[in-house]
Amino acid sequence: MSRVLNKNHIVTYGYKKGIHNGIDLVGEGYTLADVIAHSTGTVVAIRRDYRTTDKSGNSYGNYVKIKHEGGYETLYAHMKFNSVCVNVGDVIKCGQKIGTMGATGFCFGAHLHFEVRKDGVKIDPTSFIDGNLPEVKREETKPIEKDEAKNEAKENFKVGDKVIPTKLVDYNGTHLKQYDDSYIISQINGDRAVLTARNQVWAAMNIKNIKHV
Ligand SMILES: [Zn+2]
Repeated sequence: MSRVLNKNHIVTYGYKKGIHNGIDLVGEGYTLADVIAHSTGTVVAIRRDYRTTDKSGNSYGNYVKIKHEGGYETLYAHMKFNSVCVNVGDVIKCGQKIGTMGATGFCFGAHLHFEVRKDGVKIDPTSFIDGNLPEVKREETKPIEKDEAKNEAKENFKVGDKVIPTKLVDYNGTHLKQYDDSYIISQINGDRAVLTARNQVWAAMNIKNIKHV
């Protein structure tokens, strides 16, 4: 669940890049509603003592800014005087009340002005009003996947497999001469495979230098 007001909120003014960098919302039936946190995060800035509605300027009035995973921030502006009920450093849960809608700052009528930023850049929040911020991809699982792939490759070879060398070098690094078109693994020990052809042991090779036929 991620939202900023309630399910039936009304968008009074949408996002227009460079002109209006957020979305204006009011509650169901054009009522003023509680402002709730869109997603879980940490409060990084607030203001709660702004008293006036300004006919010019660009003031957010009373606002809350919350930092989320993945470089995202949400901002909630124009809240009612003294209604902001969280503090900088608070960890806020998705859906938790953070204040009440109002008309403080540069504003023509009470509403919530909602912004989303990614790495400090204001982005179009339209698709996130009723949905989660994009999932953060976790990079740290990648090296584990690589190791698993390596182990898989090791386990891929077993006694009796038909293989060919990809490099004509034996396990000790000595250059080899081709003996047959393909070989059978007659013994395997860790990364060392003994290759046999025409019922004769040909060489011991590192399994990284062989492949299945
Ligand atoms: Zn606005």
